[in-house]
Amino acid sequence: VTERVVVIGGDAAGGSAVSQVKRARGDEVDVVMVERGRWTSYSACGIPYWIAGDVDGPQALVARSPQVHRANGIDVLVGTEAVEVDLDCAVVDVRGPDGQTDELGFDQLMIATGATPVRPDIPGIDAQGIFGIQTLADGASVVDALSEQRPLVNAVVVGGGYIGIEMAEAMLRRGLNVTVLDQAPEPMPTLDPDMGRLVREAMNGMGIDVQRAQVEGFEADASGRVRAVLADGQEHEVDIVILGLGVRPESSLAQSAGLCLGESGGIRTDERMMVEDSAVFAAGDCVESFDRVSKSWVHVALGTHANKQGRVAGINLAGGQATFPGIVRTAVSKVCDLEIARTGLREVDARQAGLDCEVVTIESSTRAGYFPGSTPMTVKMLAAAGSGRMLGAQIIGREGAAKRVDVCAMALWTEMTVYELMQTDLSYAPPFSPVWDPVQVAARVLSAKLAER
Ligand SMILES: Cc1cc2nc3c(=O)[nH]c(=O)nc-3n(C[C@H](O)[C@H](O)[C@H](O)COP(=O)(O)OP(=O)(O)OC[C@H]3O[C@@H](n4cnc5c(N)ncnc54)[C@H](O)[C@@H]3O)c2cc1C
Repeated sequence: VTERVVVIGGDAAGGSAVSQVKRARGDEVDVVMVERGRWTSYSACGIPYWIAGDVDGPQALVARSPQVHRANGIDVLVGTEAVEVDLDCAVVDVRGPDGQTDELGFDQLMIATGATPVRPDIPGIDAQGIFGIQTLADGASVVDALSEQRPLVNAVVVGGGYIGIEMAEAMLRRGLNVTVLDQAPEPMPTLDPDMGRLVREAMNGMGIDVQRAQVEGFEADASGRVRAVLADGQEHEVDIVILGLGVRPESSLAQSAGLCLGESGGIRTDERMMVEDSAVFAAGDCVESFDRVSKSWVHVALGTHANKQGRVAGINLAGGQATFPGIVRTAVSKVCDLEIARTGLREVDARQAGLDCEVVTIESSTRAGYFPGSTPMTVKMLAAAGSGRMLGAQIIGREGAAKRVDVCAMALWTEMTVYELMQTDLSYAPPFSPVWDPVQVAARVLSAKLAER
């Protein structure tokens, strides 16, 4: 009998894994991918840009459709939900598109169920016109709502994280008045508040009204369509609401199967992406990752990790050897022309952890000051007091700012000191940077501050 590998979840992590297994083992294995939606290997990351009108969707956002996976020899069950996993009997119970249930036996299992968007139980949240942004179907619903005959005037985005601000841009560019409401003092809580303040000020300058407020409820009109958002006793008239309140690991299936979860609620795996105390693999937004800087387990739901972890799990499922060495919490996003990037620890993380560190925030520019198109750029950087080891960086600026964070991510990855970073051979020509790259200016100022101690 041919060995059977079952993978639950058919997007970034699941799709990467099945491709690896099939490539390595061909007809020696049956590979079955169970996906409750209708799309596979799609880019949720592209949804805000589809809604803004930068890219087409939904087909253009699909890297590998069920048909393409099938042509590669993978048995894809779409519209099919895995409802229970029995590890002792090596069986997954699935419910198909018509509600029929079935048992799927496996020799090897991988869980790649992703994350679930937070949807708080606030009065009125089920009114029409309130959208979460997670799947291509969500994207299509928003595009449909924006194409209705009735013109939409006011949009409220609840949540000022990266998906919230990307959606705020999309709504603005579709011609709506946009308000972002968040209970946190500043948007982008993955940054320190002083950097978040720069994001808020820039967004306000773009015409996006960013307010600190706790959303208490939604009111609908007689037809059931959202009409107002109630927040801190104020009523915001609204035609469309976007929820961007973050995600939780979708680990319930794994938990009921008795698999090990970490404190974040994500599935805990080893470096091979094998779930602790089991023979099951897991990857992507449903797992927690090891943060190489803080040496702790964290839940960071990003496609960059899901793809890499899925690949590692797939290689190991196929009998190969691969490891996922952890993360340093690098992330980039943008709102209109403002680029936002971070890696490593924030100052608040370092202080909370009781680390003795020095912090600097410097102003530089994206090109040589005299070069046309040069725009301001702010870099915040922190380093450990004794060793000078780089601990984290945040960058905000216009075109060309964000990807500079990758240099900082490499410095973190290799446990470089800021003295070393200051001296590394980074590129320079006037159209690309000042003669001292802003990242190296920050490392230099930080080195001087450390030396003064
Ligand atoms: C709007 C948006 C923008 C984003 N932008 C970025 C970005 O710029 N950069 C970045 O790195 N990341 C970004 N992300 C995050 C990125 O999309 C995710 O990290 C990535 O998709 C995770 O992949 P995954 O395979 O682990 O999970 P998912 O993509 O969530 O896939 C899990 C799949 O499992 C299926 N599933 C779940 N439970 C079951 C079940 N019981 N039975 C069958 N199927 C099941 C789901 O239907 C889903 O298709 C963005 C996400 C969103 C929503």
